[in-house]
Amino acid sequence: MKNVLVIGSTGQIGSELTMKLRGLYPDGNIVAGFIRGAEPKGVLLESGPAEEADVRNAGQLAAIVDKYKIDTIYNLAALLSAVAEKKPLLAWDIQMNGLLNILEVSREKGCAVFTPSSIGSFGPDTPHVNTPQDTIQRPKSMYGVTKVATELLSDYYHLKFGVDTRSVRFPGLISSVTLPGGGTTDYAVEIFYAAVKGEEFVCPIAPGTFMDMMYMSDALKAAVEIMEADPAKLIHRNSFNIASMSFDPEIIYSAIKKRIPDFKMRYEVDPVREAIAQSWPDKMDDSCARNEWGWKPDVSFEQMVDIMIEALRKKLNQS
Ligand code: NAD
Repeated sequence: MKNVLVIGSTGQIGSELTMKLRGLYPDGNIVAGFIRGAEPKGVLLESGPAEEADVRNAGQLAAIVDKYKIDTIYNLAALLSAVAEKKPLLAWDIQMNGLLNILEVSREKGCAVFTPSSIGSFGPDTPHVNTPQDTIQRPKSMYGVTKVATELLSDYYHLKFGVDTRSVRFPGLISSVTLPGGGTTDYAVEIFYAAVKGEEFVCPIAPGTFMDMMYMSDALKAAVEIMEADPAKLIHRNSFNIASMSFDPEIIYSAIKKRIPDFKMRYEVDPVREAIAQSWPDKMDDSCARNEWGWKPDVSFEQMVDIMIEALRKKLNQS
């Protein structure tokens, strides 16, 4: 990996991944891809090249690959679960037609491709506890439908055309740097903002609803390590379960309350998000990722809670 195009570089994962890649590969071109209306700003714009890269525009993608001799594409363009339910046709267009454009450009020009899947690729019939790597995937949301199809299409391009496609199924990601973009696990970030601001948190997810979550630095580590893994050792490709922590609203609330005793939370369950959350795994089995490319998370639940509170206290004091 030397010259990389990050599509969706201004999103929650893209902005931090682009900066991490620029640190790891200072001699390469790490291009921040963006769409109009979501242009990069600040350090993301100043620390390297940026290009308009709409996944629905194959010509635009091919020109960037040629200009910067791109060898790896991180495709982070997507509408997340709650947004995709409101705009299912647009979600299909970005997630599927966009992916097809990327895979075709990569087939022609020899790029490796990372397109993340998600815990959203599972459905109500999936075993929820220790969800296996290879299991039933019958999601009911448009987000989930596109994630399963992404896994299949990416594997197809590897098997049929030899395109080096690899990916991981991200859990809900928790970061103090960027706000989440409209997913079902957003509450796990928003709860920290409320706690640190001294506000009551209104929780849209019901008590007892467990979901897999992960601190952002571990997600970025996984995104880099899977693309650098020895291909000879990969039995799977699209897409690996990766797990780190699993909790419900009560558990994260009490962990925060231990540190901020005045913190209050009440429930106003959002039926759309709750139905999606109910259909997702409580905790994935990530042994294939551990065995095939050495996956191991670094940040525990308790560490994550400490890091988030400290980082948001600093951030909110500054603004
Ligand atoms: P996000 O909503 O924060 O960012 C999405 C990015 O896609 C934005 O920068 C947006 O400008 C860009 N985009 C939208 N339409 C586009 C188009 N037509 N062409 C190019 N770019 C376009 O999302 P995120 O949280 O950074 O997620 C990135 C990927 O990771 C997605 O595939 C998502 O499904 C997956 N994922 C995220 C999480 C999470 O918790 N954040 C969990 C599981 C999987």
